[in-house]
Amino acid sequence: MRVEVATHAGVCYGVERALRLADEAAATGATVRTLGPLIHNPQAVADLRGKGVEVAASLDEVGSGTLIIRSHGVDPAIIARASEKGLDVIDATCPFVSAAHTCAHELAKEGLSVIIVGEEDHPEVEGIQAHAGGKALIVQSAKDLPKRLPSRKIGIVVQTTQSLARLEEVVSALLPRVNELRVCNTICSATAKRQLSAEELARTVDVMVVVGGLNSGNTSRLAEICRGENPRTHHVETAEELRSEWFENAESVGVTAGASTPGKQMQDVIAAIEAIR
Ligand code: SF4
Repeated sequence: MRVEVATHAGVCYGVERALRLADEAAATGATVRTLGPLIHNPQAVADLRGKGVEVAASLDEVGSGTLIIRSHGVDPAIIARASEKGLDVIDATCPFVSAAHTCAHELAKEGLSVIIVGEEDHPEVEGIQAHAGGKALIVQSAKDLPKRLPSRKIGIVVQTTQSLARLEEVVSALLPRVNELRVCNTICSATAKRQLSAEELARTVDVMVVVGGLNSGNTSRLAEICRGENPRTHHVETAEELRSEWFENAESVGVTAGASTPGKQMQDVIAAIEAIR
């Protein structure tokens, strides 16, 4: 059985950086907390817990020590409050998310009404909105645009994981309705690259395996895309979940992993598939 790995698969730059910063903080022996799970991957979160890095649901739960801000970023008021409490703050906000924060802030400062293309309850979007002064409108698609826009001068910022097609759709719908439209394309290519190469691979192999947290939006989306191309697609978190019957009569198996899946997790699954003969 031949195993092929998608050209772009597994942990992205921002998540890898956050994991490294957490490891470094744990190695100092300090009391370390992350504000929310560092990544949407139960095994990686458990691994961090084993190293002494616990998850705090809110700032109120952290009295002292080190607080890690995850790659999604947060409202700057949270960082300010953490510093006031005397916490040692490690800001692991992904630089691509920080770029979206800067754009949102600048657009609002220049007097434009900010529209964020993204998911309303997503922590990254909440952080971007806070940087826009808390007044930004959030839309997931053009159909969410209100009949009455907040003004005829609009600035757009995009959640990093959104698709270009979604951004284009909102821009096209807004153009005829405004006098001024400024767009910050803050989409990060990591998601799109993983989706495209997973889709291409799923089309050519007999069985497709997608590795990553069942609670990870980006991994679940990869599985959905692969399933659209190949019904023999399976989404697993660990090698232990693989079933030999999935691979019956298969000559080729494709493997991909979400941007929040640590490399070792993907390698373990690949080794386990190769061991099935
Ligand atoms: S997907 Fe992109 S923006 Fe999000 S953490 Fe990874 S590198 Fe950063």
